[in-house]
Amino acid sequence: MSFLDISHLQKSFGTNTVVKDFTLGIEKGEFVSFLGPSGCGKTTVLRMVAGFETPTSGTIRIGGKDVINLKPNQRNIGMVFQAYALFPNMTVAQNVAFGLRIAGKPKAEIDATVKEMLSLIHLSNLGDRYPYQLSGGQQQRVALARALATKPQVLLLDEPLSALDAKIRVSLRDEIRSIQQKLGITTIFVTHDQEEALSISDRVVVMHEGRADQVGTPFDIYNRPASRFVASFVGTLNVLEGKVDDAAKGVVDLDGIRITLAEPITGHKNGDTLALALRPEAVTIGQQNGHDTAIEGTIHDVHFLGSVIRTRVSLGKNKVSLDMFNNPASPPPARGDKVKIGFAARDLLVL
Ligand code: ADP
Ligand code: MG
Repeated sequence: MSFLDISHLQKSFGTNTVVKDFTLGIEKGEFVSFLGPSGCGKTTVLRMVAGFETPTSGTIRIGGKDVINLKPNQRNIGMVFQAYALFPNMTVAQNVAFGLRIAGKPKAEIDATVKEMLSLIHLSNLGDRYPYQLSGGQQQRVALARALATKPQVLLLDEPLSALDAKIRVSLRDEIRSIQQKLGITTIFVTHDQEEALSISDRVVVMHEGRADQVGTPFDIYNRPASRFVASFVGTLNVLEGKVDDAAKGVVDLDGIRITLAEPITGHKNGDTLALALRPEAVTIGQQNGHDTAIEGTIHDVHFLGSVIRTRVSLGKNKVSLDMFNNPASPPPARGDKVKIGFAARDLLVL
């Protein structure tokens, strides 16, 4: 059994079932993200783990112990929310000390812990300030320190960065990850931002309509999406529409262009329409070295993004996005240019 063990969790509000048969094991010290669109049930799962919401059915165990009947303050969990939920009438130090006061810890211990926590979040000099005197990023760091002060066994972060500016968001997300690794604390991080989830997690749970669609490392989630939803929600994806030409031989007709896949096509018969997924970075342009497919297309548009040039190539009625690296010695292709693009058959996923 895993350290945090969620089994067949279900939650209905009236007739609306918003969490459906959610099962997940998280190891001690692991950092797991819940990634999914708004309304898919991420917060509801988190609130059930924290004890703010009672499951309709299912079990939650922490360290082998069933916590379903424990109150939130008996679960030894720290939580950070999206909106800055600091007490406005308390200083930074008093906010961080709050949980320890409630727990009746001696003053010397509280003072020492507050000092340790403020140093951990690099705000040692701001203990006497009030929340309104802090930036958004600083407020979230205080919220993190407050959540960690009671030395919880599990840390729950519900979109803690989504109210912040892009730059602060990136630096604070790296700081959260580094603090989490330093403390070795088991953490669930909720986000609807794929880059956030992929960049700092040991594993990602992609959620869709109350279910865990896929659980895996960022590498697996991105490269081996288990469903059409995961493939399209995570990363940029080309979806090519075609017809099955010869299912047994894996041949697809993409608007007049015949392509042979790495494997026979199962679940479709000849003549069926079929959607194929292809990541932009799996496509090369110009030199086709080592690729088993080379197709002539026409440049549809070119977006110069700086280090990368995102280009769309028309193949009949399909369009394929691909990324080229900027090369100061040679200008990018232009709209209307005829080009050859290439990709490996194994990089085409049948959706
Ligand atoms: P997420 O965090 O992924 O955006 P939530 O877990 O907040 O999603 O919500 C999932 C679904 O459950 C939504 O459709 C939401 O409206 C519904 N929901 C959440 N809390 C309640 C509640 N207390 N009463 C009724 N419906 C709720
Ligand atoms: Mg939410």
